[in-house]
Amino acid sequence: MSEFILSPGFGLGMPEKPGPEQDIVIIGGGPAGFTAALYGARAAAEPLVLIGEVMGGQAATTTEIENYPGFPDGVGGMALAQQMQTHAERFGAKIRFETVTRVDFQTYPFEVHTRSEEYAAKTVIVTTGSSPRKLGVPGEDKFRGHGVSYCATCDGYFYKDRRVVVVGGGNSAIDESLFLTRLVSEIKIIHRRDRLRADALLQERAFDNHKIQFVWNTVVEEILGDQEAAAVKVRNVKTGEISTIETDGVFIYVGHVPNTGLFRDQLELDETGHVITDKRQWTNVPGVFAAGDVQDAIFRQIVTAVGTGAAAAIEAVRFLDQQKHKEKTE
Ligand code: NAP
Repeated sequence: MSEFILSPGFGLGMPEKPGPEQDIVIIGGGPAGFTAALYGARAAAEPLVLIGEVMGGQAATTTEIENYPGFPDGVGGMALAQQMQTHAERFGAKIRFETVTRVDFQTYPFEVHTRSEEYAAKTVIVTTGSSPRKLGVPGEDKFRGHGVSYCATCDGYFYKDRRVVVVGGGNSAIDESLFLTRLVSEIKIIHRRDRLRADALLQERAFDNHKIQFVWNTVVEEILGDQEAAAVKVRNVKTGEISTIETDGVFIYVGHVPNTGLFRDQLELDETGHVITDKRQWTNVPGVFAAGDVQDAIFRQIVTAVGTGAAAAIEAVRFLDQQKHKEKTE
């Protein structure tokens, strides 16, 4: 896709677009977005970063990050995200708490609409990340914020000295269960198989922790309660047996889904909804790049998000230079 050459006249002679024109608009304020902003800013492109209502993405909801190089003692997810933002701002990136409501990549400059502004962008870098996947069982929506949570870092304290269940067997489920052991009295991890997906080191720590018990080969069928979640109805997938586990809170960590709703009819997506990019972070629309979890169905690490964010910004700056050169020679 990086081989795409714009057709002659692309971007020229188009009607004037509303709003201030930007060289680079970055949509999303997680590690990929802030790194793209840092690289764009250092190339004097003054990127505009539209980060929505909360900054930091998934990384900021992670209590402790132990695998980001350069932090041998670990670093808090929010602290790392804030440092990345400050770093990008220091070199001139403009950060705005605006939520993008609509984009138009069929026209050039591209249109990026937020609730309060309309921007015309010469390049766009999509770094909208991913959101926690829902279990999709009765009671999940009803008790969200009333005993159902997707963020132990945010909500863990409400469960101090109480019992909780965690659903899932990946790194997020185990990492956040380990965090919860600092607060809660007891954790039951409910996993649909009899083996965890999480990294060996995390597994070892969980197996060694006396506050954690495992409920294997089991799926949650319903979250029960009156005003607050009070129990989960579960089914053993091997025996078919149905039972109820009483609990004060349900933390759900069953994976993530990419935030690509805005781009469904604008960019090529794969069957899991991730933006398709080539090795240079180009999407199928020349001038629109994507980085981080929104285009990564495989690694989904902060360090890979940061790498693709840098690559996307380098390519965006190169694209801008090519456009300038073309305008001069035409
Ligand atoms: P994940 O690795 O995809 O794990 C999701 C877990 O939920 C799996 O155990 C899966 O079971 C289970 N699951 C999925 N759908 C389910 C359903 N409908 N009902 C019951 N269980 C279900 O997702 P994640 O833990 O959110 O991690 C996402 C990415 O972030 C991964 O690449 C992970 O490595 C990374 N991450 C890394 C760290 C770290 O390195 N410390 C921390 C957090 C996240 P199965 O195992 O049976 O498929």
